[in-house]
Amino acid sequence: MKVYNTLSRKKEEFVPLEAGKVKMYVCGPTVYNLIHIGNARPMIVFDTVRRYMEYKGYEVNYVSNFTDVDDKIIKKAVEEGVSAQEISQRYIEECKKDMEAMNVKPATCHPLATQEIGGMLEMISTLIEKGFAYAAEDGTVYFRTRKFQEYGKLSHKNLDDLQAGHRDIKVTGENKEDSLDFVLWKPKKDGEPYWESPWCNGRPGWHIECSVMAKKYLGEEIDIHAGGEDLIFPHHENEIAQSEACNGKIFAKYWIHNGFLNIDNKKMSKSEGNFFTVREIGEKYNLQALRFFMLSAHYRSPLNFSADLMEAAKNGLERILNAAENLRHLEGNAAAQAMTEAETGLFKDSDVFVQKFEKSMEDDFNTADAISAVFELVKFSNTNAGETSSKEFAGKLYQRMGQLCDVLGIILEREEEILEEEIENLIAERQAARKEKNFARADEIRAILSEKGIILEDTREGVKWKRE
Ligand code: AMP
Ligand code: ZN
Repeated sequence: MKVYNTLSRKKEEFVPLEAGKVKMYVCGPTVYNLIHIGNARPMIVFDTVRRYMEYKGYEVNYVSNFTDVDDKIIKKAVEEGVSAQEISQRYIEECKKDMEAMNVKPATCHPLATQEIGGMLEMISTLIEKGFAYAAEDGTVYFRTRKFQEYGKLSHKNLDDLQAGHRDIKVTGENKEDSLDFVLWKPKKDGEPYWESPWCNGRPGWHIECSVMAKKYLGEEIDIHAGGEDLIFPHHENEIAQSEACNGKIFAKYWIHNGFLNIDNKKMSKSEGNFFTVREIGEKYNLQALRFFMLSAHYRSPLNFSADLMEAAKNGLERILNAAENLRHLEGNAAAQAMTEAETGLFKDSDVFVQKFEKSMEDDFNTADAISAVFELVKFSNTNAGETSSKEFAGKLYQRMGQLCDVLGIILEREEEILEEEIENLIAERQAARKEKNFARADEIRAILSEKGIILEDTREGVKWKRE
């Protein structure tokens, strides 16, 4: 299996540290809002990497954190007049719902930064003892970047270029030894959550959180560290510096980064308002279609999101689900039980699609080509399975399709999910029924919607609805 490693900028053969096992850490979201479809890309991509590893028989220990203390969380808490913890708890719950709807497996462990402060204090102390960190007068602790000889090895940046870049930025009120030094611990401001430490009451810097959580749940040396490409610098570069300076070992063997998701060919950005939450997309589409869309491109390529491309993904997925439904129907209704000799030969012929699927996934998780192999299997099934097929033949083809789709996280059985348009139509019909004093029909529609988890509320501005 070949994996593109950001460290070497090459595709490398994947060799785990321990035979049969994979230790993998994926940087998770900062929880101050519903996740957007950009955040969904690493979740779906790396869940698929995990699924393929499991398909190959590896035991995968998959750790993905929630960053639950951060400026943005605190800002939101102040705006709402609630605690930072209330905000982070709320959006962790919501994020987990979205993950489930996208069929992203829960991680083996989802650590929270705020629960790991002890480990952070320990790592910072070790870094100070080893001379890799220092506390400034105000209690801020900085990492001594230049002391870590290999700084820049992941992002392929040169320290002097970085320094030149820094000179243009006016740094005021900071008492760092060097402008390249970054924060490990910072003093609290009024009203902010804080923890006691030997240096000041304060909170951790973002980078130290991941170094500590990876170490605690996976160990000092891990196989794969992953995240979006925006994290390469400074986040992952700093994680390497902290972990390797502290532990004296190579932190992660393979660094894998996904490309960015754009909207209508523009960078998706919260500040410019051109972003969609996963929840919004879920109102219009089954989120299986969003998953299928994400996997239709190579994970390292930039991916453009548009209504047309989403429609295309939805239609592609439909083709697969129709073929699967047909096979299920044939299996259920077949007269003959066992495969004929001809069918045995045909089934053998379909091995080639499995080989093509695996070959694509072996080549740095080329899900786009893997999906083509699934489409070839779909076409093969549509052509070769019919009313005269045996139960065994239809069943085996269905199983084969299911195995490949399971690696992609695509579920072959359709979910009976009601979409926004259908809800609006039913509400309009209910309004019309009420106008005609057909209250029986109006109540019936309310019941239909309620069964599908849709709650109606009659307000003065009209009928409002929400999902349970
Ligand atoms: P954040 O909550 O910003 O720390 O992001 C959580 C994860 O989502 C990180 O791995 C980011 O790299 C990733 N991410 C954020 N925005 C995008 C985007 N537009 N496209 C792809 N990945 C993204
Ligand atoms: Zn991280």
